[in-house]
Amino acid sequence: MTRGVYLDHNATTPVHPRALEAMLPYFQAEFGNPSSTTHAWGLRARKAVEDARKSVADLLGARPNEILFTSGATESNNLALKGCARARARTHPGRHLITTEIEHDSVTQSLRSLEQDGFELTFIRPDRNGCVRPEDVSGAFRGDTILVSVGAVNGELGTIQPFADIAGLCAGKGIAFHTDATQAVGKIVLDLSQTPIDLLSLSSHKLYGPKGVGALFLREGTSLEPLFHGGGQECGLRSGTLNVAGIVGLGAAARIRKEEMGDESKRLGALRAELWAGIRRICPDATQNGDPDLRIPGTLNVAFPRLPSERLLESLPHFALSAGSACHSGTHAPSPVLSAIGLDEDLAASCIRFGLGRSTTTEDVSSLLEALAKVMRRVRGSAPANAPATMRYD
Ligand code: PMP
Repeated sequence: MTRGVYLDHNATTPVHPRALEAMLPYFQAEFGNPSSTTHAWGLRARKAVEDARKSVADLLGARPNEILFTSGATESNNLALKGCARARARTHPGRHLITTEIEHDSVTQSLRSLEQDGFELTFIRPDRNGCVRPEDVSGAFRGDTILVSVGAVNGELGTIQPFADIAGLCAGKGIAFHTDATQAVGKIVLDLSQTPIDLLSLSSHKLYGPKGVGALFLREGTSLEPLFHGGGQECGLRSGTLNVAGIVGLGAAARIRKEEMGDESKRLGALRAELWAGIRRICPDATQNGDPDLRIPGTLNVAFPRLPSERLLESLPHFALSAGSACHSGTHAPSPVLSAIGLDEDLAASCIRFGLGRSTTTEDVSSLLEALAKVMRRVRGSAPANAPATMRYD
């Protein structure tokens, strides 16, 4: 039986074989608790964690003491936003926070929960290409703005945001800047030694590391209130016994990304161009969502007018893809990202995200195009224009 073709690398990625190999000893032979500094087991685990911290820092142009390990980007975003806003509110009179309409739920909902506690939010709308304009962010600055959060790369569209410019504008005003870089790390070069980002979230499973582990970059001197209280691990900012095997896997994945990212970007950019050209041949009215140039190489988001994405996905059972509509509490709501860039409900319900990754081959792209051509011949024209879509992005 065919395993199919996985084209959903924005949702998650397989663990790199070398990252898996690096992790395995830490489940059994090297099972020590890195906080147990009174014996060799603990000390070896501690060394493995510190080596991984250095690898993550190296990938980001950061210092090892600026990396905190967490359970993933959801936690990193919660810790960064709640921790920074609460810590700042102690010393600054301001309670105003700025974000965008196209953030991951873990950012939006963290900020919504701060709103319940009395903070005020401003949401910036991106342009129709899915890019946030720095001048729109600075235009929203108020005397009491304390924190801005803008994702580095949008996970649905693949668009790269002008995060360095926005970080510079915030730094000029003494406003803390956070970026959710979950979809950016390991795909584009980030150099935190040159970019005044104060907090940055990442997740291991998006860069060929294991699930359930992530990191938060916290620039030295940035104050943060912890979310968890307990054993005082990670300088008291993230209590809880460290997930040593996961952290070792993240460290290895970060080292491998640094080696492989450059060549892979060129290869994936070419494959994406091939895919887009093929789609346009098969379906001339298909349109690309998000800026065609300011994007990570492997992600393509396409609207197929009058063809509900649910129907298209069902017709392509051997391909792992994502659709552009979210199903919230039983009602079919268009993705907030696609709405924010101006797509109407029908068109938003006809979008597919193609997420290419390190294992994607030119044969995969050809077989997808072949299957798509067959589907188009079969279903085109017979799809009800407003049939609902039920798949959702991760
Ligand atoms: N932010 C973005 C942009 C994401 O794509 C994701 C994962 N889909 C997350 C945050 C959450 O990451 P995690 O799965 O590690 O909690």
